[in-house]
Amino acid sequence: MLMTGECFCAKISYEISGILRDARSCHCSRCRKAFSSQASAYALVDPDEFKWLTGEDQLTSFIGDHGFGLQFCNTCGSTLCGIFKGAVHGVTLGCINGDPDVEIGRHIFVGSKASWEVIPDGVVTFEEGGNGVM
Ligand SMILES: [Zn+2]
Ligand SMILES: [Zn+2]
Repeated sequence: MLMTGECFCAKISYEISGILRDARSCHCSRCRKAFSSQASAYALVDPDEFKWLTGEDQLTSFIGDHGFGLQFCNTCGSTLCGIFKGAVHGVTLGCINGDPDVEIGRHIFVGSKASWEVIPDGVVTFEEGGNGVM
């Protein structure tokens, strides 16, 4: 079954024909800004299994160091996906419609979480990265 996602204003939508992998939440100060939240909520996709359905021409990109970047809706500002060297690398869990059948497996960089965030008991945490960014 195809998974779909869209931004807040619904001009941009996508579908994923495969599964999401390595769902994670990064609490570092950079991700807090990039995701406008207490942390990222992000999972990897196979670029061959990802397809924009509508509104691809309305994406705005911010490319950071090392070729990693994020893409946003230029109307509503939702962060839809991460890209690496121009290809879709992963998606933000918040923009997925319905149940993507995945759970956040690890919370990373909790050592630099915001002072106001309370990390729930029982989640898998790492003071730093484990492996992976965003
Ligand atoms: Zn939008
Ligand atoms: Zn981070």
